[in-house]
Amino acid sequence: MRLIALFIVAGSLALQAQSVDKNYLLGKFDPATHPLFVKLADEHTRGSGRNAYLRKETYEAFVKMSEAALKDSVKLVIISATRNFDSQKRIWENKWNGKVRVEGKDLTTVADPKERARLILLYSSMPTTSRHHWGTDMDLNALENSYFDSGEGLRIYTWLKTHAAAYGFCQPYTAKDSGRTGYEEERWHWSYLPLSGEFLKQYKKEVSYKDISGFIGSEVAKPIAVIKNYVDGVACK
Ligand SMILES: [Zn+2]
Repeated sequence: MRLIALFIVAGSLALQAQSVDKNYLLGKFDPATHPLFVKLADEHTRGSGRNAYLRKETYEAFVKMSEAALKDSVKLVIISATRNFDSQKRIWENKWNGKVRVEGKDLTTVADPKERARLILLYSSMPTTSRHHWGTDMDLNALENSYFDSGEGLRIYTWLKTHAAAYGFCQPYTAKDSGRTGYEEERWHWSYLPLSGEFLKQYKKEVSYKDISGFIGSEVAKPIAVIKNYVDGVACK
């Protein structure tokens, strides 16, 4: 009996370690000073001086995966890791305000705010709704699906599809012919499921539309059901 009790305590401690507060889920913190985050080494990013951070568990799993990949002559490079609310807000608002074009289009020419949001949401999240907030998700090697169609890109993608799951990683934004809703396919985006699976559950329980605010266009989050269609529109949970 005592042994069973010990297991229950140990199990709930493990769960507690993965339980985070709402501000964390919304990306409202600085990964550079957060005690559960680590800075990535230059050898795993595109070079020096890039302040890239991940959750320690995510990074440790990535390093193991990366070493295994190297043995098969596959070089995995993290080109984007944690992005907090402020950095996602910059990306979102630059697209919303036409500073950065979307599919070649200046979005200030799109009058309907829901349509404007939908165009940004092809590939970019609303601040407060991104998995990049969580320190569990990363973009690898190139931000174009076509890169992974042939040559080196195809070798990388084939390797990941075969081996990433063994290290806890999955591709949440797969091709949409399976009926998945939300973002378009992203062959570069990989998620550390032992943590992100828990965080998604907590997000759906704790976050409501009143939490999705503080940026231009946030009022359309509810009408387009961003939580159901995008946050939860993932291939692996
Ligand atoms: Zn991504």
